[in-house]
Amino acid sequence: MNLERGVPLSRLTTIGTGGPASALVHPQSLGELEEALRHAAAEGLVVVVVGLGSNVLAADEGVDALVLRLEGELAGVETVDGLLVAGGGASNAVCLHRARAAGLGGFEFACAIPGTAGGGVRMNAGAYGRDWTDILARALVATASGSAWLAPSELGLSYRHSGLGPGEVVARVEYRLDARPPAEIKAAVAELVALRKETQPTNKRTFGSVFENPPGELGAGRMLELCGLKGHRVGGAMISPKHANFIENAGGATSADCLALMVEARWRAREQFGVVLEQEVVFLGDLELPPLD
Ligand SMILES: Cc1cc2nc3c(=O)[nH]c(=O)nc-3n(C[C@H](O)[C@H](O)[C@H](O)COP(=O)(O)OP(=O)(O)OC[C@H]3O[C@@H](n4cnc5c(N)ncnc54)[C@H](O)[C@@H]3O)c2cc1C
Repeated sequence: MNLERGVPLSRLTTIGTGGPASALVHPQSLGELEEALRHAAAEGLVVVVVGLGSNVLAADEGVDALVLRLEGELAGVETVDGLLVAGGGASNAVCLHRARAAGLGGFEFACAIPGTAGGGVRMNAGAYGRDWTDILARALVATASGSAWLAPSELGLSYRHSGLGPGEVVARVEYRLDARPPAEIKAAVAELVALRKETQPTNKRTFGSVFENPPGELGAGRMLELCGLKGHRVGGAMISPKHANFIENAGGATSADCLALMVEARWRAREQFGVVLEQEVVFLGDLELPPLD
């Protein structure tokens, strides 16, 4: 097993912040992944998987864990018996490309979600009224004691959540999609991408939605906009002037800057709307939002 020490997580996260991982490994196969998980269990190490790092905020001080990045056959995509089969580390962009080439539709909603198959399962990622539960046939979950295929009902999927815990790694995903002509898929994707560009800071360094949308009509973004927070800065981090539920790395941001903005946004939303916003972004390392009371 090829362990790298001290690799800065800022290199593995879309926001571009985060200190060093105590150890980083790139398993290329299911066997290598299971070996890494057994090693972590034997050494008492916390396991953290990073997909595209598009919904994580890692502590500036670093993360004391064995960080896994799935590569090789764990990042491949193929079609088997009409199913799209992706490694846990396969990017949504590659999955969508393969699905379109095979004339398989239904994955289009994920065109603007810059993550991996495994990250999609873990977060139950979604957009435009659809999420992973609409397309997931089953997922192969690896642990230190072996691997098992789990049905969606066994994964505990709900709004932007799954029941997967640390040390449970999505190694492979099977998607059940429907026949759709590639030209139709292409047109649908172009429309969704254009819509995204209009409303979200797609060309900036962010970690996607900061907070989950609270129940009710008013989304987190609109709520924070009404709090006057668009463009608000702490250090190098800024609440996006385009969509207030995004934090942009405006240059030299630290995770502490992002966290400070999150703390302020939660206070303001509670003060103005009586709503407690819950984080969507996953914290890695020693990061925590203080209680509001
Ligand atoms: C510009 C932008 C737009 C976005 N739009 C959306 C959107 O519309 N809808 C939406 O839902 N999300 C959106 N996101 C957030 C993010 O892309 C999704 O949550 C995505 O599914 C995360 O995948 P990832 O591979 O990057 O996971 P990471 O961010 O790397 O990790 C997220 C969590 O998943 C875990 N994880 C990652 N891989 C695995 C694995 N193989 N097995 C087990 N656990 C794993 C990590 O440990 C972590 O807990 C957006 C992000 C950005 C930057």
